[in-house]
Amino acid sequence: MANPQILIVDDNIVNVKVASAALSEVTTNILSANSGERALAILNRVRPDLILMDVNMPGMDGYETVRRIKANPEAADIPVIFLTAQDDIRAKVEGFEAGGVDYVVKPFQHAEIIARVQTHVKVHTLTRELAKEREAVMDSINYARRIQRAMLPKVEQIQARLPESFVLFRPKSVVSGDFFCFFDRDPWAILILADSTGHGVPGALMSVVGMASLSKIVEERDIFDPATILDELDADVRKLLNQDEEGGNDGMDVVTVAIQPARKLLYYSAAMRPFYRVRNGETTEFKADKMPIGGALYGEKHFSGASLPIEPGDTFYLATDGFADQFGGEDGKKYMAKNFMTLLARIAELPIAEQAAALNEEFDRWRGEQPQIDDVTIIGFRL
Ligand SMILES: [Mg+2]
Repeated sequence: MANPQILIVDDNIVNVKVASAALSEVTTNILSANSGERALAILNRVRPDLILMDVNMPGMDGYETVRRIKANPEAADIPVIFLTAQDDIRAKVEGFEAGGVDYVVKPFQHAEIIARVQTHVKVHTLTRELAKEREAVMDSINYARRIQRAMLPKVEQIQARLPESFVLFRPKSVVSGDFFCFFDRDPWAILILADSTGHGVPGALMSVVGMASLSKIVEERDIFDPATILDELDADVRKLLNQDEEGGNDGMDVVTVAIQPARKLLYYSAAMRPFYRVRNGETTEFKADKMPIGGALYGEKHFSGASLPIEPGDTFYLATDGFADQFGGEDGKKYMAKNFMTLLARIAELPIAEQAAALNEEFDRWRGEQPQIDDVTIIGFRL
């Protein structure tokens, strides 16, 4: 940083002069105050890049002055170097505790004061720049989140066709690689849950590719058969990402169900993610085809589809892998698919409106202090 502004606080004018002379190699922009009170008054007007603070001053001493500076959010990040007469460890500790970043023992060595000031001005400048850049990145990600949330269907839309349903959507980051779609194409209600490769920003980009393609397939091409929807989605993703020429294995795991609520008909097709049914307190897993949507490895795919007979009281669940893969519990292990199925059987007894909260609670209980490792989405419904 060229010509940083430095405030020297010392009641002894000789010390101010000596420090100023030493710093003339670093900057010409030097302010001084002969008391703590004066320093605080100056800080109401200007934000220097660094403060050199004497400890022993009549009136407010250096420690107290720094405590007050640190209590002011606008000035708190200005680095303070204490000027200590005594090379005593207690004074140094108190200086650090008050919020100082360093100290220089009097009488000053020019080289030392220059080196310490330059180091802390640099750290301070980089920290400020980093904070600014982080803010810009977060602004843009938060904006992306708004776009992504606007693209997801509202739970009320789903509930208009499937009154007994819920969505638990709990992304790991601000934006999500998990996404879901709902299409009301009377007599069909089509529900799709997908988990894109990656989470965060790359996952979110994949989710936009997936959502755009799915809406074309169902709403423009009028395709309602779950297996055909997956075939088309796979072809679209490979084409959009140019995977047949350039390779790449980005894609998504998807469960698609097509339901006619009035006739109690249900068809499903699944890529890499199973589909669950709870009946009489028991969870059945309907296995997925072992190939994902997208990816150059597999060439052209044909997904299988099946219909499921529905009995009164059946509850169905679509879920991404984020819950079962979450580390937690006493030993920090994964929750595991088997326990997840047991959990579904347990919560299926609850009224549907309470199930999302129950799953959320169990997730938090399991996770404890562990960070969430992946996006978590679970959709449940009863006909
Ligand atoms: Mg996942």
